[in-house]
Amino acid sequence: MSYRFDTRAIHAGQPDDATTGAIAVPVYQTSTFAQREPGVHQGYAYGRSENPTRTALEANLAALEGARFGLAFASGLAAVHNVLTLLQAGDHVVSCADLYGGSYRLFTKLYARLGITFTFVDATDPVAVERALQANTRLLWLESPSNPLLRVTDLAACAALARSRGVTSVVDNTFATPVLQQPLALGADIVVHSTTKYLNGHSDVIGGAVLTNAPELDERLRFFQNAIGAVPGPHDCSLVLRGIKTLGLRVGRHCTNARAIAEWLVADGRAGRVHYPGLATHPQHALAARQMSDSGGIVSFELEDEAAARAFTRAVKLWTVAESLGGPWSLLCHPPTMTHASVEPEVRRRNGIADGLIRLSPGLEDVRDLIEDLDQALTPSTRTVSLATSGGAR
Ligand SMILES: *Cc1c(COP(=O)(O)O)cnc(C)c1O
Repeated sequence: MSYRFDTRAIHAGQPDDATTGAIAVPVYQTSTFAQREPGVHQGYAYGRSENPTRTALEANLAALEGARFGLAFASGLAAVHNVLTLLQAGDHVVSCADLYGGSYRLFTKLYARLGITFTFVDATDPVAVERALQANTRLLWLESPSNPLLRVTDLAACAALARSRGVTSVVDNTFATPVLQQPLALGADIVVHSTTKYLNGHSDVIGGAVLTNAPELDERLRFFQNAIGAVPGPHDCSLVLRGIKTLGLRVGRHCTNARAIAEWLVADGRAGRVHYPGLATHPQHALAARQMSDSGGIVSFELEDEAAARAFTRAVKLWTVAESLGGPWSLLCHPPTMTHASVEPEVRRRNGIADGLIRLSPGLEDVRDLIEDLDQALTPSTRTVSLATSGGAR
């Protein structure tokens, strides 16, 4: 389909219902499907293997990322797990160091036990990525912008490097969303999403997705999807399809709000370091401007220590202290004790995640109310790191 992004978001994979003409894809709340005789059916045999509401979502997600194939999962981590199932004992993975804490836990606590080894690198430096590749490296795992420091990786350079060495490159595109960045077009082999975040966008579903253009990868991933069975129910698929209808509008507003907040934090000066790819002081600002169509919806900043961060989280009134991001409600979290609590303290600090780090996911509210709440919560008692310049420096 050659329609533009916002048109694809509304139409792709969703023809009017063949039997009733319903324009919204019905929720096919059924576990199984009648067969005229054994093996003779209308393309649907059993709900784990396929469901028409899920098929619509999978086709829609694929269209958003410019992919030929899409698979939906019960959670983002189920999607990550499905991709990791491509590996076997003896294989090696190179991954960016500041990745989603749950992915790090899955890699180091579960897959490491199965004889798969991992090297974590600063992927903002393609030379470091190249040096980490080994003869047995099978996967390159990237997130950009990264979580929670919003570091930006040159996806085209890293994907080309991986391809030249026969390594499959995977990009977790949850933070950027396909609105701002489409990794397959930059040369990546697989895109992963937590649809829990911006894609569903209403903080009421847990879900995941895997997209690819390669038929041989899709065939294996599809087999794992059915064999493992971590599939989303039809109602959740329907909610994500509804959420995607407004994806472009919402991400636009999230970006506007995030930029206003990042610029206000810098001008205000009470937050020591402000991490946001849209700031000219961000170390990969130029790359972000080239690779993404806007700077994204997440901002993080550093207070002096955990006590200052805790005092700040107690002081906010409009912002909700919660895990997750990408919904209409403005959420904030303290990564060291929340999203990244499963990362060992010394690894966390080595990766630049300070004990006083706060991650903001501005919602869709009026940004003036969001800033006024930050202003009153950042009392002089929430002392900050004193730095001459702001920006994403480590
Ligand atoms: C939330 C998240 C995940 C995991 O997704 P769930 O839906 O919570 O399982 C993976 N990657 C990133 C970048 C995320 O933000």
